[in-house]
Formats: sequence, C-alpha cells, structure tokens
Amino acid sequence: MPVVDFHIHAYDWPISGPASFVEFMDREMARAYGSFAKFVERYTTGAAYERVLDEAGVDYGVILAEVAPITSAIGSNETVARLCAGRPRLIPFASINPYLVENPARELERLVRERGFRGLKLYPTYSYFYPNDPLLYPVYAKAQELRIPVKWHTGTSTFPAARLKYGDPVHIDDVAVDFPDLVAIITHSGRPLWYDTAYTLARMRKNVYMEIAGLPPKRLLDYFPDLERVSDKVLFGSDWPSVPTMTGNIEALRALPLSDGAKELILGGNAARLLGLA
Ligand SMILES: [Zn+2]
Repeated sequence: MPVVDFHIHAYDWPISGPASFVEFMDREMARAYGSFAKFVERYTTGAAYERVLDEAGVDYGVILAEVAPITSAIGSNETVARLCAGRPRLIPFASINPYLVENPARELERLVRERGFRGLKLYPTYSYFYPNDPLLYPVYAKAQELRIPVKWHTGTSTFPAARLKYGDPVHIDDVAVDFPDLVAIITHSGRPLWYDTAYTLARMRKNVYMEIAGLPPKRLLDYFPDLERVSDKVLFGSDWPSVPTMTGNIEALRALPLSDGAKELILGGNAARLLGLA
C-alpha cells in the first residue's frame, strides 16, 4: 500500500501574513533554516516538494492551501495549484475563507473543475467561524456533489491569533449528519482538548475520519487506546514543515503495537481509498 502524507503546508513567496505569525515562524524555523523567509524561498517549486517526499519514502503528499490572513501566512490556491500541476504525487487541497469570497460554493467548484483541486481544508480557529456555520453549508453541499473530502483544523494552534473555541470537533457532527455522503476529516484529532470527541465521531459516523498530523506518533495509543478499532478511519499526516522530515513520524508509527494491517491503513491505505490513488 502507498504511504500518503495527508498534511503538508505551502506558502506564497514573497510571504504575506501578519507580523505576529512571521515572528513566531522565524523562531520556529531559526535552527533548521535561519528564518521563515529562508524556508519559504527554498520551497517554491513542485520539484522541491517531491524531494521532501522522496527523502522520507512517501508516495503521495496532500499539499494544503491556507487562506486565513488574520492569523497565518497565505498559501494561496494559485500557489498550490502551480506546485502540484503535472505532478500526480502532489495532491492539491484548496482553502476557502468564507469571509473573503463572495460565493464560496461557486469558488470551490471553479477550483475543482478548472484548477484540479481534490479536497478542501478549512481553518475555523484561524478565521473565526464554527464548522457548522450556515455560511458554509453551500460549500459542503458542493463538496458532497463534487465528491471531494473536507478537512477542518481542530484543537489547539500555537499561532498567536488563533482562537481555540472554534476548534472543538463536535461542531463537525452537524456537518456529518446533514451531509451523509461527504467525507469529513477532523484534522489534528481535536488535540489535546477534544481527543475523545474526535475518536467518538470517527467511530459513530461512517463519513467521519480523524487525521493525526501534529500528534507525536509515539503517544498515539496513550491518547487513543482503542485506535486499532478505528484504524480504517485514521489518516497519517506529518504537518511538515513543523517537523523537519516525515521519516521520524513514519518510523514511530510503524513501531507501535498495532496490527500490520492497521498501520498500512493509517499510513496510506485509507487516504488512497478516499482519494482514488493506486
Ligand atoms: Zn498544519
């Protein structure tokens, strides 16, 4: 089965974003790259992203756009479409900010049909809306019609402007019930405040998945002792570049006392099924 990283970030160059975020990222990136700008400048091509996958033995990577300008640097849909163009191993996920787009559902349709996007990521804690906000219901109806998965950032974020209350995954339950054929993904599995909610939704709702990006794989079974039971609903992601390479996370996951079948599903089998990958 392929290895699929469901959570990889990309940013526009030159950087556009609030000073608080850039300062935060400068501190985060100081050791590995020198500064946030030096990091972004190094990863402006699809080839550079493919090299990151190659170094870690990852077959496919989901590349996430990010349009939440009050909280983080922008990774525009155009940037992500350009990085992924002609590179089937890089799978573009769009970002739609419902406050910045006049007709979010029509924009999603355009991005999928004309720009090749294969999924949608929303950032409730960065842009201050709840996942079940009626403003987004036309977007969910469109995503269901287009058969693309939707993922939401949930749980904490260390970015200074993020607001936690929007990160409770329980609000995704409304969406899962109202759109039963929509694949709904709880990114970061509600870390750490709402692990139980994320797990319960993944177990209860046939269309809800939990993604484990940003969680230390070594601790996964402390957080989710019954992970094996939902192993067909769990997606691996690294949250690169918040880790310098995906390798450590993959090895730590492979070392967990789970069945081989569960590990294969989590590391890529589930993602391959959802995204129609070989
Ligand atoms: Zn992330």
